[in-house]
Amino acid sequence: MGKRAANHCFDYLLSNASVSADYEANNGTKVEFWVTNCRLVICILSGLCCSHESVRLQPKKWIYFPELPGVGFAAANGVLWVLVTIKRRKFGLGSTLSFLLAAMGLVIVPMSASAEWYRFSDTAMTTPIELEFWAEDKELANRVGKEVLAVFHQVDEQMSRYREESEVSRLNLNAPDGPVEVSDGLFEVIEKAREVSLLSQGAFDITFGSVGYLYDFRAGKKPTDEELRSGLPRVNFRDVILDEDDQTVEYRQAGILVDLGGIAKGYAVDLGIERLVSFGIRHARLSAGGDMRLLGDKRGRPWYVGIRDPRSEGRNAVVLPLEDVAVSTSGDYERFFVDEAGERVHHILSPETGKSVQGVQSVTIIGEDALTTDGLSTAVFVLGPKKGLEMIERLKGIDVVVIDDQRMMHVSEGLVPPQSD
Ligand code: ADP
Ligand code: MG
Repeated sequence: MGKRAANHCFDYLLSNASVSADYEANNGTKVEFWVTNCRLVICILSGLCCSHESVRLQPKKWIYFPELPGVGFAAANGVLWVLVTIKRRKFGLGSTLSFLLAAMGLVIVPMSASAEWYRFSDTAMTTPIELEFWAEDKELANRVGKEVLAVFHQVDEQMSRYREESEVSRLNLNAPDGPVEVSDGLFEVIEKAREVSLLSQGAFDITFGSVGYLYDFRAGKKPTDEELRSGLPRVNFRDVILDEDDQTVEYRQAGILVDLGGIAKGYAVDLGIERLVSFGIRHARLSAGGDMRLLGDKRGRPWYVGIRDPRSEGRNAVVLPLEDVAVSTSGDYERFFVDEAGERVHHILSPETGKSVQGVQSVTIIGEDALTTDGLSTAVFVLGPKKGLEMIERLKGIDVVVIDDQRMMHVSEGLVPPQSD
């Protein structure tokens, strides 16, 4: 993150925070920290990099020490404060933990020999799938891993627009001719898409296909204005008619192309979590690209979810310690090319113009389920920071972090700390 941008972020956050915090601007690393509640802590680390030496703040009293070296929590005035210390790494995690365990006088309870964190990964829905969970038994873990990963291939077969035989492709073929009965899953996703479309006044629109398919990001190809003009009349979610009683979908005009690329991964993540729960798993992290859901905590500490710096892979702009939530990020860096005019042409399109949305670099939504957060992250991206935040503030239990094209960070009220005395 550039120094100026980092300052912007810091100033913004400081102006919203009731916590007064010192920070050092040396080495280009700045730190802000606060806690809204025990479940949802937000640490904004501009240019976070744990191997940097830099900022140190004095804790009042350590009460917790998570996995990230140098990040801790201190209790003060009844609210929880986050303390962030970024130093050159001196000790490995092992030694830090053993020191802490010793200091806290913790007794280690013996447990099953194969009780541990299990990790599985795969590629499906043209996205890397990552799964991590705690299980007591290796055999069970392998079965769980296999079944959860299989979910993503099933949803892909059902909802991919690239597969001729998928349910979505058949829908696109037949729905202009009359109502088509669809599966529970597809109906649920299309219904949620409609809900997000209505909420966002059409910023989210699964019928974007007739302009969307004119792009080829790998080949650096984009449609002409004329091509867009001829495709746009077929972009309208209102032309997709749902009948709840018969569970059917019908298109009001020919040529409509429904594409669930902006929402199907969230659905698959939710299904995967359901599968984990059915096996009795209580601590897990499951992600499909930018869509993630956390089950429980990481056994006594939160999961740390990084929101990457949209312009620097491998660097985090924000780290969110979270548990039991869904988190979806939409970014302009996933599929893009830079055109001859120097403009970034990427995969999130305005249904109004058919062009890539400008003004935002990434949007992260935190909510209860990934179907909702996936749809909303795309919707807020299209709406932009102002309208996007307004929409989110109206929704219960949903929070957002927007990084705009000036690299300013905008966060919803739920992420701003309460006023302290
Ligand atoms: P990702 O697919 O990278 O996780 P998103 O969830 O933001 O990112 O979805 C982007 C995808 O959503 C695009 O690749 C496209 O398939 C679809 N899409 C693009 N623009 C819109 C839009 N305005 N409404 C609904 N879906 C969209
Ligand atoms: Mg999305």
